[in-house]
Parts: sequence; structure tokens; C-alpha cells
Amino acid sequence: MPLDKYRAKRDFSKTPEPRGDASRERRKAAPRFFCVQKHLASHLHYDFRLEHEGVLLSWAVPKGPSLDPSVKRLAMHVEDHPIEYGTFEGVIPEGYGAGIVMLWDRGTWEAEVEDVPAALARGDLKIRLDGFKLKGSWALVRTKGGDGRSWLLIKHRDAWSGELDIAEFAPLSVKGGGDFADILAEGNPDIWRSNRPARGGQAGALLEQIITRALAMKGEADVGRGKAGSAKAGGGKAKRAGAAGAKPARGNAKSAKSTPARKPAARAKRR
Ligand code: MN
Repeated sequence: MPLDKYRAKRDFSKTPEPRGDASRERRKAAPRFFCVQKHLASHLHYDFRLEHEGVLLSWAVPKGPSLDPSVKRLAMHVEDHPIEYGTFEGVIPEGYGAGIVMLWDRGTWEAEVEDVPAALARGDLKIRLDGFKLKGSWALVRTKGGDGRSWLLIKHRDAWSGELDIAEFAPLSVKGGGDFADILAEGNPDIWRSNRPARGGQAGALLEQIITRALAMKGEADVGRGKAGSAKAGGGKAKRAGAAGAKPARGNAKSAKSTPARKPAARAKRR
């Protein structure tokens, strides 16, 4: 069974992740689904998933996809995931992958080769993505040596390639528009709170670290937004401004700090 490994690692009475029972045979002929889930677990990484033969082929990409064709991103081939996993966004309270999952990109993909199973076996799959953030031609190439799990995710040069750091430029969810802290606050925060106290297990402690990190990342992003806001106006700003609006107190504190610094200088000049 293709999902045996996926299921063996999880206790579905304790995780909100789907078990993957749905039959998906009919989807084979339709445009196939792809997604990238930004996963704040013990290490931040991006899970790149392609629908193929009723499951999601999956690669964990530590640094995330790059639009720059000269940048090859390591992609560790991991176990197939159920199709339903592709739209999952939320908190994995404990066990394998404990942390926060954000649906970072989604869309459809098509092969740029005739025979996908043969390309996978060969370790050289050329694909075309049509997502919100990732588009155009890409390659997944297995590296020589090692245990055969290491692949590289590479953007081909086309209209959708460039030097833009897409992970930094578009860091938020394509599902709810939020960041990790928003995903924690949304949905059902009890999912993680109920697992925190008195458990003493490593998973609980790890999740607590991850939650702390999610909140710290939000703080860093807000500071970044504050700087960018005064430097220039740009297309990416409008989307981010919405997220920044959730924390008006911080924004005000920042402008309050910078205003008095400028005023004395102006007065000094007048005198
Ligand atoms: Mn993951």
C-alpha cells in the first residue's frame, strides 16, 4: 500500500492530519494537484508535493524553492502522502512532524516528459507548475550517490524565473493569508494547548519551542515590514500590510520611536 509508511508514523487519534482513505482514481485524468507546505517542525522546511497515481509524491526542501535557475535546492524524497493532505493547514500537536503546517502554495502541475514513472525511476523529472507563487518549468533531479533520497529542485530559465527570493517575498499562506502565529491563533488553539501541560514528553517540549519560534518569527517579520514600509512602496507590500494590521500596537510603537528622532534634527537645522 502506497500510504503504509505515512500511516505508520502517525496516530490518527492524536493528529488532525488526514488518514488518506479517499479513493482518488478518478483524478488521474484531470490536471494534477501540487502544493508546497511550509512546515515549522524541529527545522523549518518546505514540503513539495506532486499528485501522482492517487497519492502525493513528496520531497522535503529545507531552504524552499528558488526561482533562480543557478540555485539548486536540496529536496529529500520522503514518503508519499494522501491527496487530502495537500490542502491541510494547521497544527500537528505531537509525534512525527509535530509543529505548524502552512499551505504556502498550491496549483496544478503537468509533466514535461511522456512517462512520469520512467522519469522518476531515472531520477530526472521535468515538470510545469501553475501555482500562485511557483510557475513555469522546473526539474527534480536525483543526485548520484548517497541513499538515493537526495534530489535537487531546480527552476528552468523562463518567464517565471528570476532573482526574487520568493520565500521571503511571499511568506504567507495561500489558504488563509496568515503566518504561523495566525495559524496557531486560528482554527483551534486547544489542539496544542491541551497537549502542553504535565506531559513532560519530548514532543510537548518540542512543540512549545516551535510555538515560541512561530511568535518570534512574527515579531521579526513585523520589524521587517516596518523598515520596508518607510523605504519603498511595492506590489508585495499591500498583501503584507494586512497581516501587519493585526498588530497595530507594535507598528505605532515603532513610528512613535522614529518620529522624535527626526524632529530634533529638523529643529536643529532651523536654528
Ligand atoms: Mn514536513
